[in-house]
Amino acid sequence: MKFYLVEAITVGTSKNPQALINRFNENKAVKFHYKINNKGNITFLDIDNYQSNKSTQEFKKLLANIITDVIIEDWPQIIIKKIIRDHYYYFNEEEKKNIREKALEFIKKGEFPCKPQMRRMNILNEVMKFLERNDEIVLEGFVNFRLKDYVVEVADIVDAAVDDFLLEKEYMEFIRLLKYFVEIQEPKVNEVHILLEKNNTFKLVDRDGNPIENEYLDGFSLELMSSSINYEDLLISALITLAPRVVVIHLNNSPGPRETVKTIENVFGRRTRKCNGCSLCHKGT
Ligand SMILES: [Zn+2]
Repeated sequence: MKFYLVEAITVGTSKNPQALINRFNENKAVKFHYKINNKGNITFLDIDNYQSNKSTQEFKKLLANIITDVIIEDWPQIIIKKIIRDHYYYFNEEEKKNIREKALEFIKKGEFPCKPQMRRMNILNEVMKFLERNDEIVLEGFVNFRLKDYVVEVADIVDAAVDDFLLEKEYMEFIRLLKYFVEIQEPKVNEVHILLEKNNTFKLVDRDGNPIENEYLDGFSLELMSSSINYEDLLISALITLAPRVVVIHLNNSPGPRETVKTIENVFGRRTRKCNGCSLCHKGT
């Protein structure tokens, strides 16, 4: 008579049981047989090895791999939510959503300090070690107590997402302020053409390509002599001083300094035009 060691392993979770169930259902290598039990707010899957024809060791390895997938793929959302709830509760709902999405985006882009294969191996090892001694694993407790490094990694990503969100917010406030300056000013000139030159420097000219002579820009020419100035900031300040009715950015098919172009477009809105090739463009780069 053939004899297999019948053994069930129980995997429990309160946070997202459906994700766990899906992982087991979608597994192609083995068809898992399980029973679902709800105890309190925890959903337990009793997964048995009865029909799978695997040794206990193999069975645990398969389970450990699936549990690792759950922790890597489905768990960051849960950790992120908890971190935001505990540490960033002072943001409003929309801001929290924004931070959550940013953090997930960072994770998707692989902005973890630790390499993905490394992380997977570390987590898999911990799960294996745990299953060697236990027949029941509750994911929440396991992640919080056995995978502290992983939780810290996700927490660092949330912090980075918050920093990014605040920078963006600051930028938007800055743009709003600049827009306001431009709106309240009488235009000093009709048109300003921006020629982008090598080394991200620029020239402001009129429609005929002549340098803009303007009393308001006197201070700027002096600053332009210095080598340590930030040309992009200077460009924006000059434009705001002139408050032209039309701003034409001559890109000559190059992307140009993206951030600066974006800021000009944000501040001048419909007054901005981009040129991708004309006789003025060729005077630039
Ligand atoms: Zn042009």
